[in-house]
Amino acid sequence: MEISILTLFPEMFEGPFQNSIIKRACDRMLLSVQIVDFREFSEDRHHKVDDYPFGGGPGMVLKPEPLFSCLESLALEPATRVVLLSPQGETLRQAKAEELAREQRLVIICGHYEGIDERVRHLATDEISIGDYILTGGEAAAIVLVDCVARLVDGVVEPSSLQQESFTAGMLEYPQYTRPRQFREWSVPEILLNGNHQAIERWRRDQSVRRTFLRRPDLLGDLDWNEDDRRAIDTLFEEQGD
Ligand code: SAM
Repeated sequence: MEISILTLFPEMFEGPFQNSIIKRACDRMLLSVQIVDFREFSEDRHHKVDDYPFGGGPGMVLKPEPLFSCLESLALEPATRVVLLSPQGETLRQAKAEELAREQRLVIICGHYEGIDERVRHLATDEISIGDYILTGGEAAAIVLVDCVARLVDGVVEPSSLQQESFTAGMLEYPQYTRPRQFREWSVPEILLNGNHQAIERWRRDQSVRRTFLRRPDLLGDLDWNEDDRRAIDTLFEEQGD
């Protein structure tokens, strides 16, 4: 997958993609991330990219011309997905990341300052928010988006690691343990130590159902419930009634 990030602050991307899984994906040519400074496309002799808002008000607004010229210089195929990062966009979810990971080419536009000229929205196929809060700019959001999309690109992460993760299966993941068996006053649940894979699978599913019910009941609507899942919730109610 080839990703271009359009930003006024290219230095902010020094580091996040040069480590761990994303770096290995780039080294293995499964992923390439190009950082484009759209200030270079300003025709203003001082390389100005923002201006005062028409109608007055606080802050500066990013002008449309540099972003349009920058995007046009990429000579994209007409179907290329262009994501505008904005707190007003669709909230990023795992399903959206899975959808974007199927693309060969992705362009991400980072806003900054008070915001962007409304006409820049005509460049975008998607408008994405990473949550209901305001960042100073789209750079941190771009790092989040690239990280979660890139790990879903074929070959980047072992497929079995992705299958049972939180959100992928519609629920939160079950609790995980590793050595030592006993740490301070906490021990690893006995069921994980007995080698009965069927029982372990059932325990993990029960834990996922319970955890999702307690922490993220909003996710349960889409879940394909079975008898055992219902029993897990009944047991939870009984325990809480004690
Ligand atoms: N005035 C804008 C508003 O109220 O909607 C907020 C502008 S924000 C300070 C500047 C830029 O940061 C935005 O153009 C966007 O690119 C980015 N940004 C801020 N919060 C974001 C979020 N939650 N998700 C994605 N991008 C965000």
